[in-house]
Amino acid sequence: MKASQLFYPTLREVPSEAEIVSHQLLLRAGFIRKTTAGVYSYLPLAKRVLRKIENIVREEMDRAGGQELMMPIIQPQELWEISGRWSVYGDEMFRLYDRHNRGFALGPTHEEIITALVDADVQSYRDLPLLLYQIQNKYRDEIRPRFGLMRGREFIMKDLYSFDVDYEGLDVSYKKMHSAYQAIYDRMNLNYRVVEADSGAIGGNESHEFMVLADSGECTVLYCKSCDYAANVEKAQCKAPDEPTSVSDWREMEKISTPGLRTIQDLVTNMGIPEQEQVKTLMYSADEEIIAVVLRGDRELNEIKLKNLLGAEQLFMADEASVRERCGAGFGSLGPVGLKLKIYADLELTRMQNFSCGANEDNFHFRNVNMGRDFVPEAVVDLRNAVEGDLCPVCSSSLQSICGIEVGHIFKLGTKYSDAMGASFINANGEEKAMIMGCYGIGVSRTMAAAVEQNNDANGIIWPIPIAPYHVIIIPVNAKKEEQMQAATAIYEELMAEGIEVILDDRDERAGVKFKDADLIGIPIKITIGPKSLQENQAEVKKRWEGDTELVPMDQVLNTIKAIISAGMKK
Ligand code: ATP
Ligand code: MG
Repeated sequence: MKASQLFYPTLREVPSEAEIVSHQLLLRAGFIRKTTAGVYSYLPLAKRVLRKIENIVREEMDRAGGQELMMPIIQPQELWEISGRWSVYGDEMFRLYDRHNRGFALGPTHEEIITALVDADVQSYRDLPLLLYQIQNKYRDEIRPRFGLMRGREFIMKDLYSFDVDYEGLDVSYKKMHSAYQAIYDRMNLNYRVVEADSGAIGGNESHEFMVLADSGECTVLYCKSCDYAANVEKAQCKAPDEPTSVSDWREMEKISTPGLRTIQDLVTNMGIPEQEQVKTLMYSADEEIIAVVLRGDRELNEIKLKNLLGAEQLFMADEASVRERCGAGFGSLGPVGLKLKIYADLELTRMQNFSCGANEDNFHFRNVNMGRDFVPEAVVDLRNAVEGDLCPVCSSSLQSICGIEVGHIFKLGTKYSDAMGASFINANGEEKAMIMGCYGIGVSRTMAAAVEQNNDANGIIWPIPIAPYHVIIIPVNAKKEEQMQAATAIYEELMAEGIEVILDDRDERAGVKFKDADLIGIPIKITIGPKSLQENQAEVKKRWEGDTELVPMDQVLNTIKAIISAGMKK
């Protein structure tokens, strides 16, 4: 491709709306343009990267026994009614209505369609297992579309669904996908980690996420350096504290006046009570029942753990008016003592004694409160987010935390959809059984952004060779000098003839501009043809990720480039 013809509108300025580096660079380097919030056009360089990612994904899915198909983006309401998700999916679903006022969704995911499809045409155990996948746009009306391709409202996903005759079969399919995903991220040369993830209350109870490590990642990963435990913060377990409190140390509870003090911080500042000696009380509405959750003052509640514990469909923070009606006090003065609601206590409270909390009376708190004596919870369980320094649930070493971008997610569904949608088959004994399902997603467009997030410097993107839009860019320092253009064109043609993907920067621009653009768009190998090296019949070869320039005789350029590419493919 000649740069003079390539559509890559680069920008000198950092676009103000872009907060993270991948968003900035993909805009600046002319890879993407925003159409509306969370919806982007992929320009030619981006399309090439996406195609490479898709091909790696496709090859590994096929190798693992997957078969590619393509399902509709427009999905009828009836199917989502059968699974029960038309109402549950909520505002994240884009809905539309046809001329007869029939409802449709723009597919956010495809469990309904695929389950109905397989149900209609698979009757016998002989037709299973099936691993079916597609690579396609998905639509989710995210509350906060942001960070460019990271959280779009239209994005590209690979979604595979497995159908097995039993749970052993599901284990096999799941393991195949797990290994295929590792192969995919290995082949892309991305630095990633596989972590345990929450699988909700449903299914075969296993789920893993594939996280590309990057500081801008939205997900926190907790991992152990001593063993291979790694989980995302939604799932990471907090180990039970080993020393429970001793009753003999319990002091008498007292009520203290705390006028105008509402927050944990207020009590720290004004009363000198450390956060770790306070208990906060949060009120939730769980399927319409108001419940209280208590945890140490400086901890964060993990709503997923709470939701799983309660098995609740709908869980949200209760509003202050209903809380006041039930408890006699507003937010800021709540506590578990004397509360006529179910109380769920975080496990850590078993090692807290003589703590402070609200007195369920505005402007008052209690001191020296002790669980078991002053209130009795419904359950004492792990309900908080794990943090760095917590003990590893497997080996008790100290956990570390890092940021990651979730690029893939594999999930055992069990019979959630096959039961709801009646997807069954006849087994070898002639009995009717529900199909056992799994689902496996890869954010293809998010992976492109994650790759940039992990591979860049002050000058621009540094594409890993396996997913680079082009491998090589050839820059004649002065395109007006015929001998430079001739030498550059000769190498260009030689490389192209060997199937190497190459750009010839034939633009009549200053050398500095061409070098800057080449760095910005991140082409891994740069060949410069300048007057000095040309005199020696040499070209300058430079890798985007290294400082050094190598002088290579013209007749060795092809071999040198081939060697760099093949090493970069395997790294
Ligand atoms: P998240 O927690 O980030 O919202 P999710 O759990 O909703 O992700 P899945 O439904 O498991 O995501 O989708 C599979 C994959 O699709 C994710 O691992 C992610 O890589 C990608 N993905 C999900 N939502 C988006 C989005 N809004 N924009 C881009 N990619 C996305
Ligand atoms: Mg989501």
